[in-house]
Amino acid sequence: MTRGEHGISREDISDNALKVMYRLNGAGFESYLVGGCVRDILMGYEPKDFDVVTNATPEQIKGLFKNCRLIGRRFRLAHIVFGRDIIEVATFRGHHQETDEDDTVPKGKAIAKRDAHGQLVRDNVFGTIEEDAERRDFTFNAMYYNVADFTVKDFANGLNAIEKREVALIGDPETRYREDPVRMLRAVRFAVKLSMHIEKTTAAPIKQLANLLQNIPPARLFEETLKLFLSGKGEETFLMLREYGLIEPLFPQLAPFLKDENSREMQFVRRVLANTDERINSNQRVTPAFLYAALLWYPVEEHSQRLQSESGLNAHDAFNIASGDVIARQTQRIMIPKRFSTVIRDIWILQQRLPKRFGRRAFQLLTHPKFRAGYDFLLVRGQIEGGDLLELAQWWTHFQHAENGKQKAMLNALRRNEGGKGAPKKRKRRPVKRDSDA
Ligand code: ATP
Ligand code: MG
Repeated sequence: MTRGEHGISREDISDNALKVMYRLNGAGFESYLVGGCVRDILMGYEPKDFDVVTNATPEQIKGLFKNCRLIGRRFRLAHIVFGRDIIEVATFRGHHQETDEDDTVPKGKAIAKRDAHGQLVRDNVFGTIEEDAERRDFTFNAMYYNVADFTVKDFANGLNAIEKREVALIGDPETRYREDPVRMLRAVRFAVKLSMHIEKTTAAPIKQLANLLQNIPPARLFEETLKLFLSGKGEETFLMLREYGLIEPLFPQLAPFLKDENSREMQFVRRVLANTDERINSNQRVTPAFLYAALLWYPVEEHSQRLQSESGLNAHDAFNIASGDVIARQTQRIMIPKRFSTVIRDIWILQQRLPKRFGRRAFQLLTHPKFRAGYDFLLVRGQIEGGDLLELAQWWTHFQHAENGKQKAMLNALRRNEGGKGAPKKRKRRPVKRDSDA
């Protein structure tokens, strides 16, 4: 397509990406913008980032840019760093000679490798632009913009897919999902993000292959789930993932609670995701910890109750053990960095502590560093479950904003209403032994 046919202008492209392409072209290499940025510009969205491909090798790229870092094992890539802006530059990927399990391939050729499920575990063959296009996932992601002559090369008829609003894989869907099961998540992500539907043959194998996601490293799935749920359309994404059976391999402990679409658990998760969407779309801060705390809340509650009835543990111990167990099981699928798992547990522990308000406890809770998150969490639970839980949440809504005198009155009223039920028992002072007594 020529400039007149596609309407992409240099003004749509970041200066840094243009600089990178001019430098590569000036050194006699080819370079193109590719992937999401070309797709987004053609659809009238502002691209999130600009990815460049070239026929220069990573080493050749490094030779051209002082501000270049080579990264990646599975895919070797160059990052050209402009302060906080990074332009990713990849060398065209080629097709690979398949190697055997024993990995005995002559030096310099051992570059692609598949495991028993057909998944590509190593993938570093360089190739032509045509081969590069075939290796990309969806048809609308295989369009290349050339700033040297302002043309767009559309290898897989991506423009047509955009017109038909269709997420369609390049090549045989089952093979492509087996090569990289994350493509199933990407299909859903793009369908929601771009307001498209998943084309029939691309959609067909997903349910049956969903379990292959078990073979993806938990760290990669953590990154992918952030993209899925913190996109501003998390609720819609969640519903589509569920429709395609993709929640089960990601959150096996949650999936059994979602069988009935009207269940309390389903309502709760949807409400939390909807709130998250609202926050993201009005530029408020969100933390993955809150989301994970919500996705795993009912599994924790259930597990804790089971521990109490089966092992006779007290409520407090059962809850602590259950929290640890549920997080440990989840991280077998999706890595949860420590900085988030500690917050998840704080939010959960606050659910145990917020009902206990007597004496100084209510005031102490207000100063808890995670009070806000714990209270927000309680509020959603209250909204979904109603009853005592809603009353408790409303009590905290009032208490935290009340004047000190009013707060004391609220606590006194509480004591009167509940007749001191649940109030801490007065501890009998035991005589303290001091060194001087000895
Ligand atoms: P986004 O706007 O969400 O960043 P994107 O299309 O740019 O969307 P990236 O993950 O940034 O997505 O990937 C850039 C490009 O790399 C894609 O457009 C696609 O061509 C290719 N790509 C990414 N992941 C895969 C994959 N798993 N399999 C094949 N090609 C992929
Ligand atoms: Mg991108």
